[in-house]
Amino acid sequence: MSNSRPFDAAQGRGLLFIVSAPSGTGKTTLVERLVQLVPNLHMSRSYTSRPARSGERHGVDYNFIGRDRFEELARAGAFLEWADVFGNYYGTSAADTEAELARGRDVVLVIDVQGARQVRSRGIETIGIFVLPPSATALEQRLRGRSKDTEEQIRKRLDVARREVGEVTQYEYVVINDELEPAADRLRAIVLAERARVKAMRWAAERIIETFK
Ligand code: 5GP
Repeated sequence: MSNSRPFDAAQGRGLLFIVSAPSGTGKTTLVERLVQLVPNLHMSRSYTSRPARSGERHGVDYNFIGRDRFEELARAGAFLEWADVFGNYYGTSAADTEAELARGRDVVLVIDVQGARQVRSRGIETIGIFVLPPSATALEQRLRGRSKDTEEQIRKRLDVARREVGEVTQYEYVVINDELEPAADRLRAIVLAERARVKAMRWAAERIIETFK
């Protein structure tokens, strides 16, 4: 899409955070906790072609749509980014994201490394946070503990994880997800620090400085 301009930093616009992590790192739970802790922070709801798992709700966990509809939307340029992850499509709505940022709300995209690369390649300003498991063994244990995945699927996730962790230097921050609360707290600290940067505070600061004149 050629419309990278709406995402440029401007007065009162929200910040765009990206959180990526290998599958099984617990990033979704972590970001759900983060948005409870930080006001005015919105977790983006992706579109996916994968079927809902038990307990997942349409419009809450994801917008669940069919593969055909997904491809149609992708062709129409409706996604800020999209990727094929483990055989299913996942994408972020460009319009939904822009609407939140334009309202001055900060947005977190919980997307894989391919999607993060796409957003960056559009020249959109992002703050990337990579969540790492404490170790490969810890990740393997979590993958085995949480799912009904077959041995082959677990192997595949671990192979992909090995490649994904190599992308960590493309991100601005790293958070190790050892325990939920301390890790969520570190994420919160990152969001608050980014909000306090001069670039983010410029408009508010200028208004205050005006009062000194
Ligand atoms: P799950 O199917 O377990 O919910 O998610 C599988 C993977 O898809 C995770 O790594 C997650 O970060 C990624 N994912 C979820 N939504 C999006 C999205 O909108 N775009 C991209 N690129 N990846 C996504």
